[in-house]
Amino acid sequence: MKSQTTKRSGCAFRTLGRRLGFGLALVLASLLASGLWAGQAKPLAALEGELLATGTKGPVLKMHDKDQPLSAVTQYLFHTLQDKRLDGREVRVEGTRKPGGTFEVQWLYTIHQGKLFRVRYFCKVCNIVALEPGPCICCQQPTELQEIRVEESSK
Ligand SMILES: [Zn+2]
Repeated sequence: MKSQTTKRSGCAFRTLGRRLGFGLALVLASLLASGLWAGQAKPLAALEGELLATGTKGPVLKMHDKDQPLSAVTQYLFHTLQDKRLDGREVRVEGTRKPGGTFEVQWLYTIHQGKLFRVRYFCKVCNIVALEPGPCICCQQPTELQEIRVEESSK
């Protein structure tokens, strides 16, 4: 852009308008790219159904009207969704729908008789909690899948 155009008011306004538009587009693009926009504008959606953990195309939530492909905000959570011990279980997932058609899970709960349970992995040998299925990072023994009742007050 030439700086001389600012001398004439008509051109100056047009230049200013273009600059503002460009700047706004940049801000929007960076907001979208960072995920901040979607994260702040929308509350988390919640879905309930049967978890199909061992599908060849990744974990799927089987609901009465459709099969919802699942992704996750962390690798830990994604590995948990693929845990065969959770295959076929009734679960509740909370997260956001992605443009690609997947549902990005942020929180996972199992359901027993209408009650929500948090999933965690525990090593009894070391008395520590692991983030995802697999051998204990400390002693390499298999960790145990545990489900912890979510109290209504703490949710
Ligand atoms: Zn251990």
